[in-house]
Amino acid sequence: MSKRTIDTLAVHAPEVPIPRASPVVPPLYQTATFRADSVLEGADYDYTRSGNPTRDALQAQLAALEGGSHAFAVSSGMAAVGTLLRLVPAGGRVLAGLDLYGGSHRLLHRVLDRYGIEVAVVDTTDLAAVEQSLRTPTNWVIVESPTNPLAEITDLRGLCTLAHAAGAKVAVDNSLMSPVLQQPLDLGADVVLHSATKFLGGHCDVIGGALITRDEAVAEELAFLVNAEGSGLAPFDCWLVSRGLKTLALRVRAQQASARILAERVAAHPAVERVFYAGLADHAGRALHLSQARGPGAVFAFTTGDVARSARVVDGTALLHTAVSFGGVASGIGLPCRMSHASLPPAVREQRALPADLVRVSVGIEDTEELWSDLCRALDAVRLKRAV
Ligand code: PLP
Repeated sequence: MSKRTIDTLAVHAPEVPIPRASPVVPPLYQTATFRADSVLEGADYDYTRSGNPTRDALQAQLAALEGGSHAFAVSSGMAAVGTLLRLVPAGGRVLAGLDLYGGSHRLLHRVLDRYGIEVAVVDTTDLAAVEQSLRTPTNWVIVESPTNPLAEITDLRGLCTLAHAAGAKVAVDNSLMSPVLQQPLDLGADVVLHSATKFLGGHCDVIGGALITRDEAVAEELAFLVNAEGSGLAPFDCWLVSRGLKTLALRVRAQQASARILAERVAAHPAVERVFYAGLADHAGRALHLSQARGPGAVFAFTTGDVARSARVVDGTALLHTAVSFGGVASGIGLPCRMSHASLPPAVREQRALPADLVRVSVGIEDTEELWSDLCRALDAVRLKRAV
């Protein structure tokens, strides 16, 4: 064979044999395409949109953690919700929990209606209301429990029983809990959704989503949709989420332990009116929550009675940074009505009784006492101003 030119060599470096090695960490297959051994026989992988070993490694990890048989890693939490909602046929019906994430609400109400899909919003903490709504034929029920940020609890076992009896399937957005604290498939859900941007990734460095199921027919349809719509998570992002998952249990337990302490101290602070957190003894849904989950999680919210005062608390913290999202190793604080839930129309915020002065705290892995002194200083400052 004639000598290769520099142009060709630059693209086709001398082949290095694939080593006989078993890496402890699944390697990153940062490639868009795969070579076929033979054009007729093909290979296990051909194109990363359709499948990639790094994505498969993450998907196996996700399925194991949620107790599913199939998992799909997609480009964001919203892509996970969107892919799920693609399962609803044109002219179908979705029953949606009252206090869903603002982006899910936007997708349900401003995109699904283009396909003639009816969306019934129901307070799923009231199973009688759910039963009543399910008298109208329904394809899917989508809920969060606890909800974010109001920490409303739905009886997930009861909801799944009612939905299945009515011929509907149930999807639970488990982003706030993570599989460490709650495994909805064991409670009867058909699909578990995640914003992997939150606890699963855990480091605020990747946007991702996940869908996990045990239902073969649903899995087949999801696999088809992920390929058809090109929503699969990119290899490097899969690798980052996979890396994050290794410390998921440690992080969630540590974050929750701090959140319990901080939520109790915040509840006792004179600048605070009400705290929303299933870990507090006076939370109405606490017993129900603990019958289906292993803890209240690391996110809580509180009101001060005044938007400007709440804004001063948020701006007054230094260690807790003002940022959207939750579940990361770094603590965050914000005003949901101005940030994560800003896309909700004012009428919907009113229907949900989402207070404009609500402050949400996502507790990270920093030292608990340093977090408290930061938060306490910000709360003390508004209390002092109040007294003047
Ligand atoms: N579900 C919940 C409960 C969320 O809080 C979010 C984002 O905040 C999403 C879904 C959407 O996830 P992503 O931002 O990764 O698209």
